[in-house]
Amino acid sequence: MNLHEYQGKEILSSFGVGIQRGIVATTPDEAVEAAKKLSEQTGTKWWVVKAQIHAGGRGKGGGVKLAKSLDEVRERASQIIGMNLVTPQTPKEGKKVHQVLIAEDVYYPGPNPTKEIYMSVLLNRQVGRYMILYSPQGGMDIEEVAENHPDQIFTEIIDPATGLLDFQARRIAFNLGMEGQAYKEMVKFVHALYKAFISIDASLFEINPVLKTSDDRVIAVDAKVVLDDNGLFRHPEYAAMRDIREEDPTEVEAREANLNFVKLDGNVGCMVNGAGLAMATMDIIKLSGGNPANFLDVGGTADAARVEKAFRIILKDPNVKAILINIFGGIVRCDRVAQGIVDAYRNVGEIPVPIIVRLQGTNAEEAKQILDTSGLKVHSVIALQEAADKVKELVG
Ligand code: GDP
Ligand code: MN
Repeated sequence: MNLHEYQGKEILSSFGVGIQRGIVATTPDEAVEAAKKLSEQTGTKWWVVKAQIHAGGRGKGGGVKLAKSLDEVRERASQIIGMNLVTPQTPKEGKKVHQVLIAEDVYYPGPNPTKEIYMSVLLNRQVGRYMILYSPQGGMDIEEVAENHPDQIFTEIIDPATGLLDFQARRIAFNLGMEGQAYKEMVKFVHALYKAFISIDASLFEINPVLKTSDDRVIAVDAKVVLDDNGLFRHPEYAAMRDIREEDPTEVEAREANLNFVKLDGNVGCMVNGAGLAMATMDIIKLSGGNPANFLDVGGTADAARVEKAFRIILKDPNVKAILINIFGGIVRCDRVAQGIVDAYRNVGEIPVPIIVRLQGTNAEEAKQILDTSGLKVHSVIALQEAADKVKELVG
């Protein structure tokens, strides 16, 4: 689950991570109030107005603007709230901005120069451990740094048994060129960041930039925080932060029905039980020349209600030219699934695309019988290759 920048920063701050402070606002009036309040709290004279959407690159798209007076705060907030923000990370049509974060200006001049740093915490799948990936080249596209200056990217792999060790935090601060007070601040920042990451069951932190301020504090200016959905039940207070306006409506509907659904851009809808079989089904669709329109795992209980819901969700996608149902009847019997498919089909009404059903496992023959005598436009097959050939024949 993705969070907004302001939510991510709130959580980081609660673990003692230094942040650029801010107040969220949904109207220009609120933005001005927020700016006044922020100045009382922090003494800031300037503010940044930051669009809150689930995508990065907002600065490039005009979604992050400096304001040097309350009138400018109002003006910038009016421009940004309601705008359709297009960034390299949004869909082509952009994302509508519903709220802005009014943040303190942290790039003020001081005794020392400011420095922008890149830092993320993520899973290193090769070694099966979390790592901190960081670079002194912050504020810009990290992919670009990786491409042109790979020597400017550092990693620190963390042993889950010990957690982040102090020498590792110090090595990070050293590699980032921190000195004096800033060095100590960076060590503290990294420890707090890792503690937050583990405590909240996050799957990704990306802080770009982390800023060393001109008075040698270290703070998160941006925060991309992704929570692991499988750990959300342990954190109801974070689960409540979900903003479904930012999510694909079909995926929201599927999640509410407890279906594991990911929308893709092909033309063959898939309905499968089990994630592994779903992946294999997508592979065979590809091999037969088609393209999967979605990943959909209906889970262990492929009863009529779930199959019906899955049909309805798949059929929302106008690109779907055929639906391949691939169910392995291990615990659930194939004949029950077949009856479920027939019932669901009748409830949904006319299904405008051909359906290929492949049922394998317990009572597969009986299941085929049920489908073949149902009078519905369903092609039932038992072998996976047959299913693939049928998809090829029907989709072309
Ligand atoms: P992103 O573009 O979506 O990654 O949003 P960021 O939160 O990273 O902000 C984009 C850029 O805005 C940063 O890289 C900074 O250069 C700039 N910025 C953010 N906060 C401030 C601030 O307090 N003062 C000034 N002058 N610039 C800021
Ligand atoms: Mn950023």
